[in-house]
Amino acid sequence: MAWRLGDSARSHHLALWRQAFVAEARRLGLQLQTLGTVLGEPVWMLSRAAAEAAAPSRLVACGFHGEEPAGPWGLLKFLQGVDATTLDAVHLTLLPLVNCTGFAAGTRFNAEGDNPNRGFGGSSPSPSAEGRLLLQHAPTLAGASRDGVLSCHEDVLADSAYIYALERSPSPGPRAKHLLQANLRHFTQHPDGLVDDCAVCDGVIFNHHDGSFEDWLFGLGAAFAACVETPALQPFERRVAAQADMVAAFLVDMPDG
Ligand SMILES: [Zn+2]
Repeated sequence: MAWRLGDSARSHHLALWRQAFVAEARRLGLQLQTLGTVLGEPVWMLSRAAAEAAAPSRLVACGFHGEEPAGPWGLLKFLQGVDATTLDAVHLTLLPLVNCTGFAAGTRFNAEGDNPNRGFGGSSPSPSAEGRLLLQHAPTLAGASRDGVLSCHEDVLADSAYIYALERSPSPGPRAKHLLQANLRHFTQHPDGLVDDCAVCDGVIFNHHDGSFEDWLFGLGAAFAACVETPALQPFERRVAAQADMVAAFLVDMPDG
């Protein structure tokens, strides 16, 4: 295919993204299913079993917010650069693009004006149409994220990088640091302070519960949850590369303690 993944002019081209994604899914033996149709668009889930039954189960989700296109493109870039043997180490599940209407329009929220990354519990508002679909698949998604869930986002106001991490420990563990380091190979670290009223310290917003998708799955038992943020004030190509590197970092087996 003749376009570069870093081509920001095509960053919201839904048909191009789908075409390229299906090609990689086929090459790698990922099973594609449509979880449901939301606002006229299919929401995909892809899965691939590990070579060994005892391997970890990890879930990667992208494209909750339509004006954050580097997530879905970054996951595609990761797939283009990986071989099947590497994927054999993990029971992998992908939700590569949750908010299809927002992605196509370049808008944060979906075509109904709802936020697809809220409404998963706590005091957050009612779920969006995408959220309701994901909530219907709670047992499947909880199993798929037993050993971790990664949600790929961008901060449209930021020029430096950070992540959110949820862990059952008093401070960020090696997995969070490994993810952050992958982001920092491409960008400088966000200074300590507040982001959306959350304290960011050493590049991590830690154990912030906000009714998001990743917070929901952490509550359902995921061993680790992260929401990674690339700085959307930086060039698109670098953001796509950072997202791809963070997916790779997330799938690496390492001690959680
Ligand atoms: Zn977002």
